Amino acid sequence: MIVPVQKDEDFLTDFREADKVSGAIHVWWLGQSGFLIKWAGIGLLVDPYLSDALSRSTAGTPDELRRVSERVVDPLRLTGIDYVLCGGTSPDRFDSETILALRAANPGLKVVLPAGRVAEAEALLGAAAPPFLPVNAGTYTKTGAFDFHGINAANPKIRRDAAGNSRDLGYVVLFGPFAIYHAGETVWHTHLVKEVRRWSVNLAFLPIDGLDGTERNRSSMNGFEAAAFAKAVSASLAIPCHYDLFDRGNASPDEFANCCDRLGQRHRILKIGQRLTMGPITDPSAGKALPSEPYRPEPGLGY
Ligand SMILES: [Zn+2]
Repeated sequence: MIVPVQKDEDFLTDFREADKVSGAIHVWWLGQSGFLIKWAGIGLLVDPYLSDALSRSTAGTPDELRRVSERVVDPLRLTGIDYVLCGGTSPDRFDSETILALRAANPGLKVVLPAGRVAEAEALLGAAAPPFLPVNAGTYTKTGAFDFHGINAANPKIRRDAAGNSRDLGYVVLFGPFAIYHAGETVWHTHLVKEVRRWSVNLAFLPIDGLDGTERNRSSMNGFEAAAFAKAVSASLAIPCHYDLFDRGNASPDEFANCCDRLGQRHRILKIGQRLTMGPITDPSAGKALPSEPYRPEPGLGY
């Protein structure tokens, strides 16, 4: 079992205290495609799965999925969250148990999701559902300091509902001086580079668990494609994801890292629960600029 480098109380303390460094973006990996992002005191969770719902619902079936990593934090204790961003309604990206617990802890919570998934999301969450902010590919929704731009995700094809609404999305999220791209569940499709290149992306979160290029019906990029994609959109820093949550379909990030090295693409492989902080940052106590992306000593690796 992979033990997060920070979890529970330590994780919550780190999340709270990250604000002491102002002007920066803070990112924690939760396993699979889940990330917690904090900027200017605003908390954003992408594809959070912080329960055992999928293990329970598949128990005893041929599709049984067991966790290979421990949960980072109890969503009922995770306050300070303003938005949940979901790329679709597959159970590893849209976990009703997690979202309802988050809503209980964060009464102002809003959920950003593909417009073609709203009816499913309503059915999954029931009467206690938080308000939805639906997005389509090629459009965006603006809320507070954030712009959420919908980017087509293809797994393996781009899907829309009968009304033409997007069923699967990645997002470019704009806030302050930052642009981040979370790819969702997607292969490298024809328009993807063109869509994402419109922005100067600081951080790109890319799935790497796709099998080799001959595999049909896969829904994710593989490590090589993710590295090449990051290079093609000139991402300042690429972070691999969509692995190390369940006991199936995991990829090692080695191929991604090796390809990034060969391409000269900056990348960072996070440990579950680990924080990445990216500038521009000013340390208020010292009053001087810090180098961007300072490393934080890791308290005991879980691998
Ligand atoms: Zn998935």
